[in-house]
Order: sequence, then C-alpha cells, then structure tokens
Amino acid sequence: MSLYQRLVRDVLYPAALWRSGDFNQWRYLREFERTQYLPAEELRQLQWRRLQALLHHAYARCEFYRERFDRAGLTPGELRGLEDLGRLPLLEKSEIQEQRDRLVARDWPRHDLLPNHTGGSTGAPLSFFLSNDRLRSRNAATTRHNRWAGWDVGDKSAVLWGAPRDLPANRWRPWLRNTILDRQLFLDTGHLTETRLLAYHEALQRFRPKVMLAYARSALLFARFLHDRNLKPYRPHSIVTSAEVLEPADRALIEQVFGCPVFNRYGCREVSVIASECEHHAGLHVMAEGLYVEIVKDGRAAQPGELGSIVITDLLNHAMPLIRYRIGDLGAWAVGDCPCGRHLPRLQQVAGRVTDFLVGPDGRLVSGVFLATYLIGQRPSLGQVQLVQEVAGQVRFRIKRGANFREAEDLDFLQAATRRHLGAATVIDWDFVNDLPPEASGKHLFSRSSVALEYLRPGKAVRQPEEELACPRPN
Ligand SMILES: [Zn+2]
Repeated sequence: MSLYQRLVRDVLYPAALWRSGDFNQWRYLREFERTQYLPAEELRQLQWRRLQALLHHAYARCEFYRERFDRAGLTPGELRGLEDLGRLPLLEKSEIQEQRDRLVARDWPRHDLLPNHTGGSTGAPLSFFLSNDRLRSRNAATTRHNRWAGWDVGDKSAVLWGAPRDLPANRWRPWLRNTILDRQLFLDTGHLTETRLLAYHEALQRFRPKVMLAYARSALLFARFLHDRNLKPYRPHSIVTSAEVLEPADRALIEQVFGCPVFNRYGCREVSVIASECEHHAGLHVMAEGLYVEIVKDGRAAQPGELGSIVITDLLNHAMPLIRYRIGDLGAWAVGDCPCGRHLPRLQQVAGRVTDFLVGPDGRLVSGVFLATYLIGQRPSLGQVQLVQEVAGQVRFRIKRGANFREAEDLDFLQAATRRHLGAATVIDWDFVNDLPPEASGKHLFSRSSVALEYLRPGKAVRQPEEELACPRPN
C-alpha cells in the first residue's frame, strides 16, 4: 500500500467522517473488520443480542409488530434463541406497501427517518425509512466487502451503473470529496450506444481505476463489445458485479476479456449489501453482523444446498424494523467452511433477477435494471411489470396491476416514460395478467430481450441515437 493510500485510509477518511458527523461509520468499519473472523458461535451470540434488542424495541414501539406478536400469542421475552424467530410469520412486500407507517417506530425523530425506495425488478416497488446510524453501518459494511475485492477507501474506481440518483451531486464539496477520497469515475450504462461504449473504453484507459463496480449485465455487454471488436481492454485489479444474475458463462467471459477476477455481490436497496464473494470465490459471505438471514422452504429452515426463499431481518435499523422480510429472491446455503477463515455464513447461490438490456428503435441499448428502477420504481401504482422484447424497437409489457392502478394515467405514464428512455418511435403493447410468478429456476424475470446481445456484433451497428441523451461526461 502506498503512502498516499495509507494517508487517505487512516487519516483523511476518518477525518472527513469526523467533520461530517458520521464518525460512527468508522467505528462500525473497525468492528466489522474484527467480527468477520469471530468463531461462528460468537457471531451467532452477537446476532442474538442484536435480535433481542430489535424485537423488544419493535414490540414496544411499532404498532404492526405489537399486533403480530399478539396474534402469534408471543412476547419477545419468550423467544430463546435465533431459531425461535421462525415462530413469527414472514413479512411480505405487500404488507410493507399497505402498512408502511405502522412499521415505523413511534416517536422516532422525523429528521432521522431517511426515505428510500426500491426499483421494480422483483415485484412492485416499495418505499421505506432508514435511520442515519443504519446508513453509516451500511456504508461501513460496503467498505468491508469492497476490501475483499482489493478495493479500499481512496482507491480509484469506475462505476458502470445506470443510476442517476447514485451519482455524486454537482457541488464543490462532494466533488472535492470524490476527487480525494472516493475517486470514482461514473460511466452511465442506463443508455448505451456504440459511440458511448467507445468513449468509456477510452475513459478507462485515461482514468486507470483499480476496481470496476458494475451491473452484471453492463459488464457482460461491455466485455462482449470489446471482445467482438478486438479492442484491448483496460485491465483493472478486480471487477465487482452486482444487482443482476451473473451466469457462470458470463463471468468467464468478463474475466477472460478484462483479465482479472470477478467478485459477485448480492444486495438490495432495503438492506444494502447482503452477501458477497471473498478472494476464494466459494459462495457469498453474508453481512451477518447487520443482517440475520434465513432460507425458508415450505415453512421450515432449508437444508444446506436446498433452494428456498431468502428471508432477512435487519438487525440495525430501529427506525423502521424489517423482521423476517421475504425479499422475493431464492437462494441456498453453502456447505462447510470457507478457506479464507471468515465464519460469516455463505450463500452458495442466489437465483436473482433477469434484467436484460432492451434495444430501442434507433439501436440504443437500455439497461433493464435502469428501467426497473427509474421507470417502474417511480410509479408504484403500476404494480408488478415484466418486459419482453423479440424485435428491436418493440416491447410488450405484462402488467399485474397494483391496488391503486388507474388505467388511463398509468398507461400514459408507462408509454411516455418508455419512449423517453428507449426512443420516441418505440412500439409498445401490453397485457394484463393475474400473476407474474418467478421462473421454475427461481429467477425473477423483469426484462428479457432475444435481440439485445445481437446488437453488439460489429456491423450490426449500435447506432448513434436519434437525439443525444443527457448523460454525465466521463472524466
Ligand atoms: Zn471466504
């Protein structure tokens, strides 16, 4: 590690946190660095202490959970260990949508309720609140998991992401912080064209990031683009993929093209990083100090290797507790210990979200996660939506209408927003359906395009879009 990196990590970073009043983030980071190596039993004791505190708090201050305990004929004091949590019912997304305010702790200070919301890639979007302290522990958890991929505070990184909300604000203070501490190059993959992919290729050669953080499909698409054109890719130290399913063949191609290992990660807006790979790539270690994760199959705990529903209890968000939240993804526990020496439990696999890129009428490629977040996620009344594409420039929506669905307004919004992102000439069609179940593999299908990857072939032309799209310039 260079002197500069040491200065950033040990002096500038804690000093910046101190000045901004976020010093607890530093404390959490130090704690998580230590606890990841605790013996498994001590880790479970830590989880149990945190769970007890959460349950007592939720019972005393959240109307929703008080009622839930009463109906189950239980009080928090009657639970004797982590396994007893299974005596409480699961928390469904629809319950959060319908009764959100009853989950918020009574008399919690308003200034400490940070609003957030999810996209719509695994169902209808939902909104929720975090405390400032939870935001800090989430940031600290992300930093710890980044370090497993060789990515520390102060290292240069490039972010291939399609999320305008996650971009640094255009103000001098965040700019200074980004320049010295975060040092990130944002490459918006929400909308892609051949011109833009070439610009990103050149920007990476200039910026020379240590690590790339990418939507899995964006990394794949970029890798195929470079590979098909025989361009010599910039070679980072590692690539962290997230937010989408990473198939083994896709990982192999990304690793081959960029000549570095891929570290897969699983997370969501509701609880941030859930699990990620360490340097042994033998499954994904759970962020167990902040989350108690269960895998449930037919109402019981799944055996190792057995696919079941992922159920999460956020141990550290007391502002709006999420207890036994069925997140909508399926996963399975890994068997045995990881050679890295960390005793954080490991997920062997997660059957995540299928969010293919879609092709606009002018040949632009638009990220499925981007559409889930910034089109469907902005309009909860739409309910749950799937997108299918078999011809470039055409999309068919399958809509499971939400409780507050208003046909004229919601369909107008859907068409206008789709044309804004995919292009004005997009042909749009839709069906109403009663259910949008996961696929047999357990994966959630949000968007499927049988033509998107074809559009990367040289000569097939990912053309310049009909109008120049607003996007942040690389560098
Ligand atoms: Zn490990």
